[in-house]
Amino acid sequence: MHYTGTIWRPPYEADSLLLEVTVGCTHHKCKFCTLYSDLPFKFRMSPIEDIESNLLEAQVLHTNPYSKMLTRLQGKENPELIQRVFLTGANPFVLKTEKLLEIASFIHKYFPSVNSIGCFARITDSVNKTDEDLIRLRHADYNGLTIGVETGDDAALAFMRKGKADKEL
Ligand code: SF4
Repeated sequence: MHYTGTIWRPPYEADSLLLEVTVGCTHHKCKFCTLYSDLPFKFRMSPIEDIESNLLEAQVLHTNPYSKMLTRLQGKENPELIQRVFLTGANPFVLKTEKLLEIASFIHKYFPSVNSIGCFARITDSVNKTDEDLIRLRHADYNGLTIGVETGDDAALAFMRKGKADKEL
């Protein structure tokens, strides 16, 4: 699996398959944040070939004999189906709708059991998406974003350098 730098995820994503589709943050300027400071670059989108090879590897790891043996030792018949995928990086939702849909189609190809896809998002990442885009993404199982809403106070947002919407990638 490709994992770059420190991988951050919410505690409730402990059972989710973590899939690297982006690394870092498109904004990377908030005054209080050190989350991706271990990276030698600000933001990177993973090549689609890497995303697909990660899914293939996760599929093999999930169903290989060793995994099945561990499952049996835990008293279960088969490995539990993967239902949720969490895309890593600070804000994969900044990607263009077509790119996110392509990622979802690869996820469903390798894990047909997945019915929920989520990621971290900046509140501004949805600004460039139309209602139609959001409906299409919802139908592709994007149904659980984690958004840091620190404050609605404009002065505090400016002081903390929360910034404006970033361009879609
Ligand atoms: S948007 Fe999030 S990850 Fe990016 S710099 Fe701000 S707090 Fe950090």
